Amino acid sequence: MKFGHSLKLLLSSTLLAAVVTPALAAEVVVYSARNEQLIKPLFDAYTKETGVEVKFITDKEGPLMARLKAEGRNTPADVLLTVDAGNLWQAAREDLLKPVDSQALKANIPAYLRDPGNQWFGLSVRARTVIYNPNKVKAGELTTYEDLAGPTWKGRLCLRTSKKVYNQSLVAMMIAEHGEEKTEQIVRGWVANLATDPLPDDTKAMEAVAAGLCDVTVVNTYYFGRLKEKKPNLPLAIFWPNQKGSGVHVNISGAGVTKYAKNEREAIKLLEWLSSSKAQNLFADVNMEYPANRSVMWDTTVAAWGNFRQNQINVSEAGKLQVKSVMLMDRAGYK
Ligand code: FE
Repeated sequence: MKFGHSLKLLLSSTLLAAVVTPALAAEVVVYSARNEQLIKPLFDAYTKETGVEVKFITDKEGPLMARLKAEGRNTPADVLLTVDAGNLWQAAREDLLKPVDSQALKANIPAYLRDPGNQWFGLSVRARTVIYNPNKVKAGELTTYEDLAGPTWKGRLCLRTSKKVYNQSLVAMMIAEHGEEKTEQIVRGWVANLATDPLPDDTKAMEAVAAGLCDVTVVNTYYFGRLKEKKPNLPLAIFWPNQKGSGVHVNISGAGVTKYAKNEREAIKLLEWLSSSKAQNLFADVNMEYPANRSVMWDTTVAAWGNFRQNQINVSEAGKLQVKSVMLMDRAGYK
């Protein structure tokens, strides 16, 4: 029968398509807590170079991790991309990622910026440093994060709320270095020096400094870059603390391969590409961050802020000590 024959043809061509399609249209699916405007240009470049399609959704890290967990082995996600080692550490701990054995990733990313268990890898570095008002702060007054707890800074300090993971990670790294007792003393000193209640975000903290409400604060440098771009005349300058000691607190944005990745090979290839010198500027520069790969030149805006020594304690400590850090800040009255 004519109808039967064409149905058979249709069926067999559909089957053929189903068999052939995966090989033709390789793809990788990314759940990203990094904004679309930061990742889209990167993924477009990857597709152009490799022909591999990158599908992605963006959301905050909390909902993305909850979704991964709920989807379990049915998840379409191959890669989780997020900010802060604390979040990546949490994802690994919740068994959402799988270890990746990649020579390229090990070669491209310094050991302190990736998980010792190889479940996640830093792709850009974010420095959390001191910002001050050059009209109010004398040369030589600034030294370390720890010193901001001292008498020089009484009534002169502004801080962002302790509820944000950035400050939780900063304090966690201080616990790793100094232990809990000493860190608590430092945090109590910060609280005693506050000029005003903790501010909701890094930009508000810098605006308070510029407005003369306080003289110093601690923020991620890309917020400084964004604010200076919009309002270049604000009296704000960068200081790199702890240069004679442990170095500036750094964190990462990074990624890992999901435990139930269907396109595991493609996922690893994407991470390797993201860590390579051709992609690192595209990844870091759009957000005024630092490349994680040491062989890559810094963007000119970022380079103009000066060179600095980074704290090289493994960033996974930020995750391991996060609970302790939150409890410590609570005890110390840091809201
Ligand atoms: Fe941020």
